[in-house]
Amino acid sequence: MTVRQVLSNKGAQVVTISPDATLSQAAALLSEKRIGATVVSEDGRAVAGILSERDIIRAVAQDGAGALDAAVSRFMTRDVVTCSMSADTDHLMRLMTNGKFRHVPVVEDGVLAGIISIGDVVNRRLADIEAEQQALKDYIAAG
Ligand code: AMP
Repeated sequence: MTVRQVLSNKGAQVVTISPDATLSQAAALLSEKRIGATVVSEDGRAVAGILSERDIIRAVAQDGAGALDAAVSRFMTRDVVTCSMSADTDHLMRLMTNGKFRHVPVVEDGVLAGIISIGDVVNRRLADIEAEQQALKDYIAAG
């Protein structure tokens, strides 16, 4: 299963936030959109970083509640692992497991083209397993 196939079902929309926004605004965005991470971008096209709920927790643990007024750019991860449309979801699972993160932005020709979460990958795997089981049941029943 490729990233392109996953995105064809889920869509290419990505929630982004400006590096100048505050952590408080980022927390409100994650809560409103019911997501665990947002791509940090000036223009919605180039990836400047990624900020996840874990980064907000870390900021508050480190600097106290005052951290919520700090800029996203201070606590985001700058070295973002991204993938292409043709990447395989098994490869993404390995990336996420080894890197201990749950989100991978999709970039095509330097432009943000989607995001895959661990939830998307697990959902696809479950659907595949269920389809495989059904095919086996049908095969046995037909025999
Ligand atoms: P997550 O598990 O995605 O909530 O993120 C855990 C940590 O990894 C946070 O510090 C994120 O900023 C960072 N992170 C999330 N996704 C990525 C990614 N694709 N590449 C690099 N770091 C990431």
